[in-house]
Amino acid sequence: MLFDTHVHLNADQFEEDLEETISRAREAGVRYMTVVGFDRKTIPKAIQIAEDHDHIFAAVGWHPVDAIDMTEEDLKWIEELSAHPKVVAIGEMGLDYHWDKSPVEVQKEVFRKQIALAKKVKMPIIIHNREATEDIVDILREENAAEVGGIMHCYSGPPEIAKECIEMNFMISLGGPVTFKNAKLPKEVAKEIDLKHMLVETDCPFLAPHPNRGKRNEPAYVSLVAEQIAELKGISYEEVSEVTTANALEFFGISS
Ligand SMILES: [Zn+2]
Ligand SMILES: [Zn+2]
Repeated sequence: MLFDTHVHLNADQFEEDLEETISRAREAGVRYMTVVGFDRKTIPKAIQIAEDHDHIFAAVGWHPVDAIDMTEEDLKWIEELSAHPKVVAIGEMGLDYHWDKSPVEVQKEVFRKQIALAKKVKMPIIIHNREATEDIVDILREENAAEVGGIMHCYSGPPEIAKECIEMNFMISLGGPVTFKNAKLPKEVAKEIDLKHMLVETDCPFLAPHPNRGKRNEPAYVSLVAEQIAELKGISYEEVSEVTTANALEFFGISS
């Protein structure tokens, strides 16, 4: 049994075959999923999918790429939605230095505001990090994000920083890149970090694991991520799936 902790079944790419995609995930042993909404369009869809399906949950937040679009009303809206019985986290939020739609200062401000909100409503946060590891860790520390904890989603940094994040009550979530031949750091992280701090995810429709790299990703493929972690750690696939699922249930406060 698996828990895909980061899916975008709310993306246009699943418009045509959402139910079939969910069925394929169930058949592959993916019992639980968290659908992440990150703007005005994807948040209502995430909630809708969670409302319509058992064992599917939602996270609501504002993506750093679009930080410049977030208004005070949006923040208030996210706060209201956090009370929804199927919303289990605030995010994704963070910093993305790959795209320059939103200036760095705006991204930082919107990130800080969402951490403050998560602390107010006492919910964990989901962190999106692209080429911004140092600044993210600084902000998490400055804002005392340890108070709520969270997930470093699709973590791609070095093991040392993963350990710093774990000290701040964060989980390390690995996705498709751990299966890529040239992905040195995610493989090191899979080997070095204790399974009790780990989660698995697809971040679908993006970042499909090997041998589906380049195709549309979907939750059923999270088993490939778990298999790779098992191989790197020299333990069984069953152990990886059992422990990461138990971790996710505990983290999100879900009673199975
Ligand atoms: Zn992300
Ligand atoms: Zn995402």
